[in-house]
Amino acid sequence: MPSDCLFCRIIAGELPSAQIYADDSVVAIRDISPQAPTHILLLSRKHIASVRDVAEEDHDLIGKICDVGTELATREGIADDGYRLVINVGRDGGQTVDHLHVHMLGGRHMAWPPG
Ligand code: 5GP
Ligand code: ZN
Repeated sequence: MPSDCLFCRIIAGELPSAQIYADDSVVAIRDISPQAPTHILLLSRKHIASVRDVAEEDHDLIGKICDVGTELATREGIADDGYRLVINVGRDGGQTVDHLHVHMLGGRHMAWPPG
């Protein structure tokens, strides 16, 4: 685990977070700066810097993140009205933390195109 990675430190419990789900491969926390009434971050427990670094061996993990997102959307009460899953990639994509994560945003209408 990279000791300077914010999300690795959160996953390890070294830094506090509002954790709402955890299993052996996925951890979900509430975003510290929510951009919607529901704003959850689905984190891979494994340190992967970006979706660009996902390898074939990680494909099950990506599927698991999707499954957890589906379960949490139901739990959060946003499944039927809809929500948005976002992966920011690199500088122009708006990625600020280099640890694979999927944003789940819901509870309000999402505009398109995104800013
Ligand atoms: P990115 O910009 O890399 O796609 O997303 C990083 C997200 O992490 C941002 O939405 C930001 O608000 C969130 N974030 C940054 N620091 C923390 C933190 O210490 N705790 C939590 N829960 N979220 C954080
Ligand atoms: Zn990490």
